[in-house]
Amino acid sequence: MATEHVMSSVFSNGTIAALIGEGQGLSYSQVLSNIKTVQPQLNFMEQYWAAWYCYMNNDVLATGLMFFLLHEFMYFFRCLPWAIIDQLPYFRKYKIQPTKIPSAKEQLFCLKSVLLSHFLVEAIPIWTFHPMCQKLGISVAVPFPSLTTMAKQIALFFFLEDAWHYWFHRLFHYGVFYKYIHKQHHRYAAPFGLAAEYAHPVETLSLGFGTVGMPIFYVMYTGNLHLFTLCVWITMRLFQAVDSHSGYDFPWSLNKFLPFWAGAEHHDLHHHYFIGNYASSFRWWDYCLDTEAGPEAKAEREERMKRKVEQKSKKVN
Ligand SMILES: [Zn+2]
Ligand SMILES: [Zn+2]
Repeated sequence: MATEHVMSSVFSNGTIAALIGEGQGLSYSQVLSNIKTVQPQLNFMEQYWAAWYCYMNNDVLATGLMFFLLHEFMYFFRCLPWAIIDQLPYFRKYKIQPTKIPSAKEQLFCLKSVLLSHFLVEAIPIWTFHPMCQKLGISVAVPFPSLTTMAKQIALFFFLEDAWHYWFHRLFHYGVFYKYIHKQHHRYAAPFGLAAEYAHPVETLSLGFGTVGMPIFYVMYTGNLHLFTLCVWITMRLFQAVDSHSGYDFPWSLNKFLPFWAGAEHHDLHHHYFIGNYASSFRWWDYCLDTEAGPEAKAEREERMKRKVEQKSKKVN
């Protein structure tokens, strides 16, 4: 009995999939050129995306491999410039803790540990991701959603992830959670790009849930999310995490234009003083809940307390 061929869900129309040659053992470039002929209205990203799914002819494998490669490539691609900048004395004036330059040995140790964690810890959820996407109704089909839809969803994910991160990160600074889990991430009091994902597996999974779990909640509620949007979101979140660990604050850093953006200045203080600045992308949680890090914030807090006590004693007198 012949087993029925399971079509990729990138094209909902079986005739188009047949014209493109899906499942016929063609090479990637042949599939791509067929797509360019049959579906010329698609933009180049959509064509490459569709060709990947048709060529792989197995959506679970296609999504798993794509996510794994995307994560590896984007993470190290973003870390590389910071590792180079660390070697150039010119940039020293922008370093937040200028006397603490990570040595090559330290960076190599961190790299090995991060790679190990990528293969052992993150590989498992990545491979089970596609079946979950199908269940939740996350689409892989072309064309992609509009730019406005993607931008709105990504902005919401940034907002939600930051809230998740604030509370769980704050929790990780309590007693046993710190001692057995979060302490590993605080090995570097002056962080560098690669240290962004240097963490205990429990931390990777629970803080990582803010990145992957928030879109899952969103699609459960709305039923409307595309896998490409998720790829863009994960890339942007990776860049945010690496940059906030870079250790450099430039006059052209994003937080100079968006005052509520946290950036490296915010997270570097967290690593330096161990207390405060728990949020990931934005400053509002730490500002509103009075958990800002560093000597300036501490002095301000003390000043406020002093004023309160003085006012109270005035009232009593
Ligand atoms: Zn911490
Ligand atoms: Zn950190």
